[in-house]
Amino acid sequence: SSVPARAAEAVPVAPSRPIPAVLGADLEVPVKGGRLVGYANLDYAASAPCLEPVSAAVTAALPAYSSVHRGAGYASQLTTARYEQARHTVRAFVGARPDDAVIFTRNTTDGTNLLARCLPAGTTTVVFDTEHHASLLPWPKSVRLAPPAFPGEAVRAADEALAGIDGPKLLVVTAASNVTGELWPIAALAHVAHRHGARILVDAAQLVPHRRLNLTALDLDYVAFSGHKLYAPFGAGALVGRRDWLAEGEPYLKGGGAVRSVGDDTEWHDDPEPRHEAGTPNVLGAIALAAACDALTATGWTALVREEERLIARLRSGLASIEGVRELSLWGDDHPRVGIVSFTVDGYSAREVAEVLSSEYGIGVRDGKFCAHPFVRHLLGETDGGCEDGTASAVRASIGIGSTQEHVDRLVEAVRDLVNR
Ligand code: PLP
Repeated sequence: SSVPARAAEAVPVAPSRPIPAVLGADLEVPVKGGRLVGYANLDYAASAPCLEPVSAAVTAALPAYSSVHRGAGYASQLTTARYEQARHTVRAFVGARPDDAVIFTRNTTDGTNLLARCLPAGTTTVVFDTEHHASLLPWPKSVRLAPPAFPGEAVRAADEALAGIDGPKLLVVTAASNVTGELWPIAALAHVAHRHGARILVDAAQLVPHRRLNLTALDLDYVAFSGHKLYAPFGAGALVGRRDWLAEGEPYLKGGGAVRSVGDDTEWHDDPEPRHEAGTPNVLGAIALAAACDALTATGWTALVREEERLIARLRSGLASIEGVRELSLWGDDHPRVGIVSFTVDGYSAREVAEVLSSEYGIGVRDGKFCAHPFVRHLLGETDGGCEDGTASAVRASIGIGSTQEHVDRLVEAVRDLVNR
């Protein structure tokens, strides 16, 4: 069984509220000939639309906001309380340990880069070539592993690589691929990392919108994720995890809030939260992110996962029924995955497919290499070559709350029409 499912079993959450609505569900877009059609947003993996409860939480916070942590006035106190409450919510959402740091960042990329700056001197990072660039590139010294042929191979390769490294080490892995949606064996990888005295950072950008994550149950050291993929608007994310490296690392930004006192010497805060949150924080972003966490938790993962699995199975089997359409997959059709499907269409570049889907059918997908160039090249059987050149690329459809059967069916029939032209 998949690791996230095991974490879910450890702390069951009963469904309690209906699945919330997203903003923009009734958006209409022009297609060729000037007709308006309902927009089929199938690009959730890039950024998911805003949930109604998230919009409500931001609207409620707008009338009385002021800068946090500094002011004595009512609005400042209220805003500080809301900001710190958001931190608690995020901590609970990812099942963090009571003493873990919860640092608000701009997004996942900001979180991985922050951790990269706080690594103890000489740390070697082990990372698979399947990673998103946000998790592939920030590391000062890294060992890169080839895409593993099956999940057990990932664990074996990490084991071998970590065994050969002296000094501090960090294993970085994405929990759910932004290219194939496939779930990685993060509990087994955490176990291996710890056996070698290493730590593990999980890039949960594509996992948290789709599955419950429990950092404590999975024994993960760090997780990073983004609010804009989690049904909250842009600009806020979180890095959650062990305090010591973060308490010792150079402050990420230098300025007000991160510092305890400034005289002849500068005394930085030891606590990671103020230390790495210099400047006026994105309070509304944090409130939005926390409201999304609350809304998903209140809905319950059982209902969310059931609906997503129904739609993604329909989408995958529809695409599989079209000759010349090939789904990208590292570990095969049956491996568990979240609501993301990447595919190619014989005779058409990914850019052509995406443009036709948008301009003729009102469907939004993404095409390209999805900021995972080595991985997409591997899946397409390339050894080298161009990047966003429109040929060596794939089309990605991704779903979430607000996706409908009509959206999925429209995509399948549009691709079928295209192939039959
Ligand atoms: N990691 C994964 C797996 C992603 O899918 C993404 C976004 O595409 C990122 C990291 C980077 O997220 P952000 O652009 O929000 O920093």
